[in-house]
Amino acid sequence: MSWWTTDETHDPRRTSWVESAQEHQDFPVQNLPFGLFSIEGMRPRAGVAIGDMVLDLPACANAGLLPAAVAPLCAGEVLNGLMALPATQRVALRRRLSELLSDPAHRAAVEPMLHAAVDCTLHLPARIGDYTDFYVGIHHANNIGRQFRPDNPLLPNYKYVPIGYHGRASSVRPSGEPLVRPRGQRKPPEADAPLFGPTVRLDYELELGVWIGLGNDLGTPIPIGQAAAHIAGFCLLNDWSARDFQAWEYQPLGPFLAKNFHSTISPWVVTPEALAPFRIAQPARPEGDPAPLAYLSDSDDQTHGALGLALEVELSSAAMRAGGHAPLRLSRGPASNMYWTVQQIVTHHASNGCNLQPGDLLGTGTISALGRDGYGSLMELSSGGREPITLPTGETRTFLEDGDEVTLRARGEADGAVPIGFGECRARVLPAQ
Ligand code: MN
Repeated sequence: MSWWTTDETHDPRRTSWVESAQEHQDFPVQNLPFGLFSIEGMRPRAGVAIGDMVLDLPACANAGLLPAAVAPLCAGEVLNGLMALPATQRVALRRRLSELLSDPAHRAAVEPMLHAAVDCTLHLPARIGDYTDFYVGIHHANNIGRQFRPDNPLLPNYKYVPIGYHGRASSVRPSGEPLVRPRGQRKPPEADAPLFGPTVRLDYELELGVWIGLGNDLGTPIPIGQAAAHIAGFCLLNDWSARDFQAWEYQPLGPFLAKNFHSTISPWVVTPEALAPFRIAQPARPEGDPAPLAYLSDSDDQTHGALGLALEVELSSAAMRAGGHAPLRLSRGPASNMYWTVQQIVTHHASNGCNLQPGDLLGTGTISALGRDGYGSLMELSSGGREPITLPTGETRTFLEDGDEVTLRARGEADGAVPIGFGECRARVLPAQ
């Protein structure tokens, strides 16, 4: 079985005896993402989202309902062990969970192990050893590059190297945890010297996160044909950014305090298996662009390596919520606007022998569409702060204000498949302290 093929767990006719799973926007029985949850008085434990419920994995394991090889891995307070499972065992676990949650014969045994999702707190799913952020959103790179270098938006390395930088793992936080507006150095263009204080250009970045599963030993690269086997799952990632700090600090070593104050992820780990029906071909490169170097070239990756997901960003201000306004959709676009596939960024990261470890997190970089209605950051939507956006209350925004809440969503849709979602990636801005 290949990482893009489907089996009975994807069958659109398969339904769950968990009623809320039917046509659930995120978690029908065809999804089955892993997460780490707790209810009051309980230590964090592994779970699986199904409709409006969360299945307690250690309880299933203790009852002897799960494959013997994976049962011990369900007991931990992080999912790093489960993430490190070889794909064949992860697939076996998925098949078993799908069977338990769809066959009514298992209902009596399994139903007591379900918790209402509203009663559950979701945690970071893994102990994140390292977090790396890439820059593979081609339209974002063009849009941002154009603001700095109108005649030459893409630097010459972009079409050869999946550009990335090492981020900060300690400040990655799950959806729902507010972020505090950071303080830092910024230098207004007209000022002689920088100021220190709260950012006045706080932005979000719409990204996908990639969870590393199987690691590689230091000194041992990951061939492109094996890269998919090292991916344990996917999430949404909001790489909050202080654009004024970024512009002042980024040369010559790249992003630093403009990016590492807080990053929000959606807490459910959507597996490669769940995304198999939504795999699509990597879009052809524009005429005249170089082919990837050999170590990044693989025909299966080019044919099946992109993700057919629709990505969305919503904003609500404090005044909008007080006035009963629904969140405003700022953008919507496909995840296929990536110049490199997720397999290529994994292989590139390990190509010098750098060792990736289970639970490492990679970000794709901001994913923008070609048109304005699909831009993945305010820096792009407001043209660098020159063109404000008007909210339903009449308020305007170039960058984020205190009290603003940003929600990212992702949804897989394909002919003949039940649509699935990632759950939300949401956080609210608190004033600087
Ligand atoms: Mn980023």
